[in-house]
Amino acid sequence: MLTDFAQNILGDEHEEDYQSLAESPTVKELLNYQEPILHDDLSVEVLNRFVRDSSLFSLAIVDKLNRPVGLIDRGTITEIFVKPYARDLHYRQLITEIMIDNPVIVDIHTTIDDLAKIIIDSGMRHMSHGFIIVQNEVYVGLSTGHALLEEITRRKQRDLYYLAHYDQLTGVPNRLLFKDRLVKSCQNAHRSEMQTAVMFIDLDRFKFYNDTLGHSFGDLILINVAKRLSECIRKSDTVARLGGDEFVIILQNIINVEDCENVAEKIVESVRQPMTIYERDVNITASLGVALFPLHANSVDEVIAKADAAMYEIKQQGRNNFLIYSPDFDLGLIERNSLEINLKEALENGQFTLVYQPQVNLLDNSVIGVEALLRWHSPTLGFVPPNKFIPVAEDCGVIHELGLWVLDQACLQHKKWLEKGLPSIKVAVNVSAIQLDHEDFLENFKAVIDAHQIDPAAIELELTEGIMLKQMETTLKTLNALKDFGVRISIDDFGTGYSSLSYLRKLPLDKIKIDRSFITNIHTTSANEAIFTAIMALAKNLSLEVIAEGVETRDELKCVLGHQCIEAQGYFFSKPLPADDLVSWLGEHNDVVSST
Ligand code: C2E
Ligand code: MG
Ligand code: MG
Repeated sequence: MLTDFAQNILGDEHEEDYQSLAESPTVKELLNYQEPILHDDLSVEVLNRFVRDSSLFSLAIVDKLNRPVGLIDRGTITEIFVKPYARDLHYRQLITEIMIDNPVIVDIHTTIDDLAKIIIDSGMRHMSHGFIIVQNEVYVGLSTGHALLEEITRRKQRDLYYLAHYDQLTGVPNRLLFKDRLVKSCQNAHRSEMQTAVMFIDLDRFKFYNDTLGHSFGDLILINVAKRLSECIRKSDTVARLGGDEFVIILQNIINVEDCENVAEKIVESVRQPMTIYERDVNITASLGVALFPLHANSVDEVIAKADAAMYEIKQQGRNNFLIYSPDFDLGLIERNSLEINLKEALENGQFTLVYQPQVNLLDNSVIGVEALLRWHSPTLGFVPPNKFIPVAEDCGVIHELGLWVLDQACLQHKKWLEKGLPSIKVAVNVSAIQLDHEDFLENFKAVIDAHQIDPAAIELELTEGIMLKQMETTLKTLNALKDFGVRISIDDFGTGYSSLSYLRKLPLDKIKIDRSFITNIHTTSANEAIFTAIMALAKNLSLEVIAEGVETRDELKCVLGHQCIEAQGYFFSKPLPADDLVSWLGEHNDVVSST
């Protein structure tokens, strides 16, 4: 997954990350040694071992050469000896009479991915009584499917950590890790009475190349630039990509402004050197804004804003150079607030719309509902995706009003469809954590639904998993009240929160939506499939409905259905559609149902 280049620039500090990503561990990781039982041992002796050690789940049975011939699990032995007549029958019998004689035996060098497949193929029977691990056919220990699942989940989380913290194209840290490292560096600067510098870097002619020569051309420019930037700094410093052609650098332990100027000059010079891509000469230049903590700012957010203001200023002044922050530049920040201001006006000026993505029951192909997704077309900024404006709306508080608008529209639409003679279509709306924190949330929410006089059960709230981690008690109270009111509650993007699954028991949930990252290529990725299976088992245990998010291909769909998940949403069925298009889609979709 990673380029050599990415490995080089990440350096030794991340070697461990690489190893875990590059290699698939073997079942050795799961080994748990338990003294085996000889096949001519008596059942009573084995029973004694289980009685003595309550932590024993299962034991391997071996022949004289220490080769496994069977497995006996706690369940079997307890079941047998609990019955009085069976006691007489089996007391002095050889253990081989009551053992499982087709245990899963795997070599210590088998990869964990292969093992996952073996366990899934054998119908998950070996989750608790486990399997025997051998080396050169000789018994070396035991393990269970649960231990395997834990290991796979841990690896998946490590991969997700990588995905969440590194830029996939260039291999350098992304915004999240940048922020993390900046916080640490500023704390250090505070202690050591030195400075931390933040450099904002924007490429000057990137858009031209990207638009005229294509994205793969643009990608190579970005990879090249990341490499050059990394060569200009020390190992302890950080280059990160924030997105698009925006890079940022953290310089640690800076003594004076001149130190920064030297590095900034080096960077401008290095990026300016022509590069050759697909045999074409490319001349890219960079504009840099630099600010220092604590010289120019008292907080992490402030130093970022000031470096950004300096970059904005250098762009105004003619690019291809750098500027160190000065208080005169603060005016530029006003421009940056435009997204926020635009957002506030957008609601008043009717620039928002909702689109609806169908959710399908896979057993009879019927539509069980739709998810309402917000769209913003700004006359000045163009189309702004929700992932970009929702966080701003959360920061500036607009989300409360916006969230109620979404609910209002969703209710209105639900009613309109009913009036058109369509069956009741359940509408799911996304609710952000910030909204739930608002003291009037519950009251406002109910008021909107009441005003439309619709059945509250026609509305489903989608909450992200992270919501539950903070302020558990107040959140729980609000959710319980909503549930009593009659609305349905689901957990969105499930599996990405890395949180303990046990908290689910406490929540009044109807459904979990398994995150798209587990569905992508589920049919070829055994780790994804194993996690999916575990989540399905958990949901069943808690009597929750499950829907798979982001199903794009027929193979993914088949696999999801194969695991008894009977609801799905994704591009395979339809992208999110405007309300009227959804009606036509429903018509065609029903045709498909009736014609098959
Ligand atoms: P989400 O709630 O998890 O919504 C699913 C996202 O995945 C949507 O992106 C949808 O268009 C996309 N998607 C659905 N099927 C597929 C697929 O098969 N493949 C791929 N690649 N993507 C698929 P969208 O509309 O850009 O929304 C992004 C996120 O923004 C949403 O994630 C949600 O967290 C947030 N959002 C959207 N509307 C609202 C809203 O009204 N309120 C709040 N608070 N958040 C919203
Ligand atoms: Mg959602
Ligand atoms: Mg989702």
